[in-house]
Formats: sequence, structure tokens, C-alpha cells
Amino acid sequence: MSGLVTIVGLGPGDPRYLTPAASEALASATDLVGYGPYVDRVPQRAGQRRHASDNRVELDRARFALELAAKGARVAVVSGGDPGVFAMAAAVFEAVENGDPAWRGLDIRVEPGITAMLAAAARVGAPLGGDFCAMSLSDNLKPWEVVEARLRAALAADFVVALYNPISSARPWQLGAAFAIAAETRGSETPVILARAVMRPDERIGIVPLREVQASMADMSTLVIIGASTTRLIERPEGRAPFVYTPRFYGVRA
Ligand code: SAH
Repeated sequence: MSGLVTIVGLGPGDPRYLTPAASEALASATDLVGYGPYVDRVPQRAGQRRHASDNRVELDRARFALELAAKGARVAVVSGGDPGVFAMAAAVFEAVENGDPAWRGLDIRVEPGITAMLAAAARVGAPLGGDFCAMSLSDNLKPWEVVEARLRAALAADFVVALYNPISSARPWQLGAAFAIAAETRGSETPVILARAVMRPDERIGIVPLREVQASMADMSTLVIIGASTTRLIERPEGRAPFVYTPRFYGVRA
């Protein structure tokens, strides 16, 4: 089979943060497949077909891309950030595992992108300088009990915790519950970073102590980072935002 599926990470927003390799994969595709707003981020090219869909049909979209490739198309499936982080790459491989055996013979590639967690961290300093973990707070694809158990374990292990999919109109209470769980073990001054629409025109970054943070400070375009016990602020003069960092030395330097 000559078809190709490349699952392409578009990065957080600003096209300067798209890798050259991802750009090449987009330029050489005959077909673009993805959630509408991500497809919209890719410049129009003559002769390239665009198949935009809504957000809730990842597996259908993956199967559609594989079917196109099986007919010989060079398909780019686009995802925000990195396509392997809570995004389309896993959907494509799930479709391959459970679908037409012929799809296993296709050329399938993943082009990485800068994930929201890294873009957000870079905006405020180095909050991920120590050990960290990333979780999706969404209980659409896994039960809340699993989310809560993992969050408690991550907090108990004193990881910095990055929360993707923190809140949406269909999931209004989970983020508040996560902050309450964090407050059981983390100090009230623990820095919480609320990084909204990082590297997009409507970017907004907040750094708030755990005792003041509220779920209403986040929306579905926000990446939340809860500091570890060692995460700290460096205050700066003239009202400038502090730097946030997590030292690499653990509990050694006061
Ligand atoms: N594959 C994406 C994540 C998809 S899950 C990536 O690697 O970044 C969707 C979640 O990612 C959102 O709810 C939000 O928490 C986060 N996110 C994606 N892009 C973001 C951005 N530019 N700024 C802040 N958060 C973002």
C-alpha cells in the first residue's frame, strides 16, 4: 500500500512553534483531516483537500483518515500541541488495532509538536524543572474514580502536576474537586499556574497561590500546573510577574 498517514502536531498556536518537519508533512499531504479549528490553522494549498470535523468523533476521524490512505492518499491528521498527548495519535492507533487488518501495512508516522504543558511552563520560568506528571482531568474517557486516584497518588509523590482538559461546560465541578484534593496535602502558598491559550492572540497567564485559586479562573483552553512542595516564586520589581521554578535539587537547599 502506498498511502501515508502522518499525525501532525501543530504546537500550541503560534506558527513559529510548528516544527519544520511538521510543516513539510502538511505541505506534502493530499488530504488534511482534523478538528475544524486545527484544520483552520493550516494555510490553504491548491489541490489539497480539507476534511474538518467536530471535536467528539476522534475514532471516526481516525478511521476516515486510514480509509483515505488505504486508497493511496497522503493524509495529514492534525492535532493541537503534540498529537501523542491526549490527542489524535492514540485514536489512529486504536483504529488500526481494531480495524481493517490491511491498515497495519500502511505507512503511519507521528510528527511531534510542542505540547501545552511545555509552552505554558516556558511562559513562567521553569516549573517543570523537577519531576512532574501530566494528567487529563476529563472523565469522558475514564471514570472520575481513576482520575481522583491518580491525582492523589501524584500529589502524594510530590510531583508537579500538569492538568489538561481542566474544565468544560459538560464537566463543571472536576477542577474545583482537584484543587480541594490538592489543598489537603499541598501548602496554601503552593503556586498554581493557569495558562490560557498559550501562544495564541488571546493568551492569559495567571500565577495564583493554592489558597486563592478557583475553578472559574480556568476554561477549556487553559492548562493548569499545580506546583510541588519545592516549587517557588522569584518576586520581581515594578509589578512584573514573578518567575516560577522547581529546583532540581530536592530538599537539599533551603
Ligand atoms: N494535544 C494537545 C492537548 C490536547 S487536550 C497538546 O499537546 O497540547 C486539550 C487541552 O490541552 C486543553 O483543554 C488545554 O488544557 C490544553 N491546551 C491545548 N492547547 C493549549 C494552549 N495553547 N494553551 C493552554 N492550554 C492548551
